[in-house]
Amino acid sequence: MTQFCEVAVPVPLDKLFFYSVPPPLEIKPGMRVIVPFGARKLVGVVLRCGVQPEGIERKSIKPVQATMDEEPALSSELLRLGEWLAAYYQVPVGEALAALLPRNPAVRKTTKAVLTAQGERALHLSLQQKSFSKKASTDELALLSRLARRKGIRQESLRDSAPMLRKLERRGWIGWERTLEARSGPDPQEGAGGEVVPERGKGHELTRQQKEAFQSIQQAMETGKFAVLLLQGVTGSGKTEVYLRAMETALRRNRPVLMLVPEINLTPAMAELFTSRFGSRVALLHSGLGEAERAAQWQRVKAGRSDVVLGTRSAVLAPLDRPGLVIVDEEQDSSYKQDEAPRYNGRDVAILRAREAGATVILGSATPALETRYNAEQGKYQLLALEQRVQERPLAETTVVDMREEFAETGKAGFLSRRLQEEIARRLEQKEQSLILLNRRGYSAFVLCRSCGEAVQCNNCSIVLTHHRRIGRLLCHYCGFARPVPRKCPHCSSEHIYFVGEGSERIEETLHEHFPQARIGRLDRDTARGRGQAEVILSAFRNHELDILVGTQMIAKGHDIHRVTLVGVISADIGLARPDFRAAERTFQLLTQVAGRAGRGDLPGEVVIQTYYPDHYAIRAAAAQDYDLFYRQELRYRKLLHYPPFSVLANLVVKSPSAETALKLTGRLGRHLEALQKPGVRLLGPASAPIYRLKKDYRYQFLIKSSRRNTLREILVSCREFARRENFPAAALVIDVDPQSLS
Ligand code: ADP
Ligand code: ZN
Ligand code: ZN
Repeated sequence: MTQFCEVAVPVPLDKLFFYSVPPPLEIKPGMRVIVPFGARKLVGVVLRCGVQPEGIERKSIKPVQATMDEEPALSSELLRLGEWLAAYYQVPVGEALAALLPRNPAVRKTTKAVLTAQGERALHLSLQQKSFSKKASTDELALLSRLARRKGIRQESLRDSAPMLRKLERRGWIGWERTLEARSGPDPQEGAGGEVVPERGKGHELTRQQKEAFQSIQQAMETGKFAVLLLQGVTGSGKTEVYLRAMETALRRNRPVLMLVPEINLTPAMAELFTSRFGSRVALLHSGLGEAERAAQWQRVKAGRSDVVLGTRSAVLAPLDRPGLVIVDEEQDSSYKQDEAPRYNGRDVAILRAREAGATVILGSATPALETRYNAEQGKYQLLALEQRVQERPLAETTVVDMREEFAETGKAGFLSRRLQEEIARRLEQKEQSLILLNRRGYSAFVLCRSCGEAVQCNNCSIVLTHHRRIGRLLCHYCGFARPVPRKCPHCSSEHIYFVGEGSERIEETLHEHFPQARIGRLDRDTARGRGQAEVILSAFRNHELDILVGTQMIAKGHDIHRVTLVGVISADIGLARPDFRAAERTFQLLTQVAGRAGRGDLPGEVVIQTYYPDHYAIRAAAAQDYDLFYRQELRYRKLLHYPPFSVLANLVVKSPSAETALKLTGRLGRHLEALQKPGVRLLGPASAPIYRLKKDYRYQFLIKSSRRNTLREILVSCREFARRENFPAAALVIDVDPQSLS
């Protein structure tokens, strides 16, 4: 009797597909299989075996072409995770499962020459020495019989016979078959990492607060039950040391450890610390890896040869077997949110995995997300506080410079206040280091025409282009579109165009003018473009080969550089005006984080924040490094406007390259949503998205706020069904659950 299985394929369709299992194949759930799908061959994942197909004629069911695994690639734990991701983030199971696998690690695209039916007949006849119209030469016959014997030969190995193949193809005797084929992947046999003992000493003696936090974590781990602990520690309070101790404990109990960090390339010191403590048992998983390398790491983790996984967002999907400890450092970081499907939040998935595995979760931050801190106050998470820096180092002193007064007093619209200039000069004299933050890359923010008032925009997006002077171009920071700097206004041809606003490139230049003797470096996405570039710049700064490092938020990430005694913020206000309810929170987090880079060594630190809104609560709270002050105020505002943590959100974007289609589809979805009104749900929109046109698409959005998660899910399911029923183009509806950005 024919066997059938259900396979999830990575296509935007919300269903599983039946395939038959031809006899020699042995198939288990979690195995990757190559299956025909329309004219294509795809790699799918078997979800269920031994099923009886329903609602489909058996004759139309195609067979699985090949299996790629001898044993399931995905454990039942990971298959369940995939199904959860699909339901929670509203994506097809096949797409969710694809995210759990390294990108086609073990498939190869091949093109094979194969005999056609006509070719087989020709071969057959000539072998029987019967006559047929086109006589094949001996060479041709030899090739044909080789093809027959080997059921096709790869194109690469037939290079020498190319002219002959063309001839045979013209006669219709051979054809080309393109397939995906399993490749026996690299599977380096390394000794199983056995040693728990750190290779480099035991680390620091814990401070009293660190000890208390660590003891609570130990207690949680001993229960063997799922628990989430929020380790809220001011910058420089020594959170990393607590993580390390917790990890040792988990490993001693033979439970693997998963640790997420927002960025590995920017904090190589951290990665080094972990590898020096845990040696070869550490697997590093991050976006800087090549595909083969990533696949190899993935295999190591799966085979249990590596039981400490340290990585960025996608590491949360690593094939660890029942982790006992899951750590999310800087849990508030928005880079944990993936901005393409499945749009998951690594932190939230980490918590889910821990729940399934009965693990302890540590969420670490100096500035927890509002939602996280709220969960702690509600008793869902246990709050562990580190209120002091190690070795009683003081937090940096902060000065806020009101740039309106600065302008009134100096009559100059410069962007370096007198105070900040003085402080930088003093650091140079004392051979100390300064970090200067401006969270915008490029030279000028945009180009404006004095005659018609228009700014130069991207061709693909409703975004003004940023001027990058060194490369002499205007760039779109959203789609990468570039154009030369115009001499005339593209709208009215006036020559009176001017450059407005400053970016990090400009600040670097200004600092060079003010301090010609200083060694200045810049770290932003432009200078850190090449692989390893960020590390080159950072290590120059760490080795004090640079006096000043200018940059975007990249300079605010967990660097621990002891000679930095000054942090200057050129414009604290960038980002405050963003059309996003988290604008204040993001500003507070960034300022607190960058301020925390100062005074981490023996020398005390100082922070100078320049702003036009010195009274804004986010800036005040950041200047006072007072999380609670910010939290209370922000929470009130969230409650008033029904934003998280008082509701759950989904952002629905309807998009199309045609403005008319986008509008039409939006109207239809809008009517559907309105008819669907449910208690506890607020619908905002439709409205044009803050970035109305993005990468050539016109965009409208709905924001759904719901007091209950289940209700939100019902609405989203219904919207997707509606879009399918009404034949919306596959890419037209984008659903973002728990969005981190509303633009
Ligand atoms: P955080 O992540 O909380 O900002 P880190 O973990 O980077 O802080 O620690 C700040 C600095 O303090 C690091 O240089 C670290 O080596 C050091 N440190 C951590 N714990 C101790 C301790 N118990 N005694 C002395 N120094 C410590
Ligand atoms: Zn103009
Ligand atoms: Zn663009």
